[in-house]
Amino acid sequence: MTSPASRTELLRLTQPEWTERLGSSDRARALARWLFSDEARALLTPSLDLDAETTTPIELAIPERIDGVSHRVLDPLRASLALTVPRCRARHVSDDGTIKYALCVGGDASIESVLIPTRGRSTLCVSSQIGCTRRCAFCATARLGFCRNLRAEEIVAQFWRARSDAPTASPLRNVVFMGMGEPLDNLDEVLRAIDVLTQQPEPQLSARNITVSTSGILPGMARLLSESRVNLALSLNATTDECRRALMPQTEAWPMTDLLALLRNDARMNPGRDVFVEMVLFDGINDSEDDAHRLVALLYGVNARVNLIAHNAFDGSPFRPTSEARLRRFKQIVLGAGIRCLTRVPRGQEISAACGQLALRHQHRPRNPDQNGAPPLP
Ligand code: SAH
Repeated sequence: MTSPASRTELLRLTQPEWTERLGSSDRARALARWLFSDEARALLTPSLDLDAETTTPIELAIPERIDGVSHRVLDPLRASLALTVPRCRARHVSDDGTIKYALCVGGDASIESVLIPTRGRSTLCVSSQIGCTRRCAFCATARLGFCRNLRAEEIVAQFWRARSDAPTASPLRNVVFMGMGEPLDNLDEVLRAIDVLTQQPEPQLSARNITVSTSGILPGMARLLSESRVNLALSLNATTDECRRALMPQTEAWPMTDLLALLRNDARMNPGRDVFVEMVLFDGINDSEDDAHRLVALLYGVNARVNLIAHNAFDGSPFRPTSEARLRRFKQIVLGAGIRCLTRVPRGQEISAACGQLALRHQHRPRNPDQNGAPPLP
């Protein structure tokens, strides 16, 4: 058998690519219907996950028959196709129903996804890289260093795995790129994963139900806004460049005025599009009334929906979360200026559901943030 590396992963290809390979769009649709069906998901039995100490991903056998794709077409292709999915190293279910997965995609490090059921629908938080090259001072993933970018099929597989865990009354319809990694540092693969997730007839997510969150990579933001209809979330996290530089070093290359000018311009070109502005609040650092007023001024002309979240502290974090009273006051000021503003309730805290925390606990050995293979920082 050919090695998986030289074969095409089923979860990677988009409908036009399948149409070309299978010779008809009907067959391409049939394949997508099967790939995201319960029948295909049932190939991944719990015992496969538990298989010993191995950290390699799991290769599933592609069945003899796939409805709507004839033997004549499938058989000659079979040797060049693979269906590989990450192995689940840990699965923690929180009291509030949040499920956090630590997944192996080969090598020492693991990635994580978090399934968050709410009333009527579930949201999956996916990872886009193993580790991250950005050095946000408050983020557990930054402690892991950088290993590699995830391939599109590894991003789609997180959805493929988690979908069957969503409660029937809350189907998985939303995906947020807020797990490990900086999605805009892996934009080609992220855009491909989005193409697959939004394709007809399956899994048919709406682009409006997908959010890509960024620490503020200006060229990537411009490309995402022009090439895709998904939502953008900007992790602003500060109201002065000085404070932001200390929290998020890439501010040096792309100051806030440039990031916000891009969003202001997009608001003029695409008045229907909202942008989420994320503010993690730290005690005494970015949570004052002055900060709230400065945020209001910065967001002038941006179609912003502000999300406030208290820092989710982890072992070794140098920061303390803001207090409830300060968070409430901050929110009042933002709302008072007519800007939509929600407080995000941290979910699954007892299972370390904040970005990077579970992987930090389950990694085999610590990684060095300056490790080779990392794209250069600006
Ligand atoms: N790199 C991307 C996506 C991953 S982080 C980004 O920066 O947006 C996803 C979100 O989690 C970001 O808004 C980030 O600011 C926030 N975050 C990271 N560490 C956190 C922590 N310890 N507590 C609360 N929020 C955190």
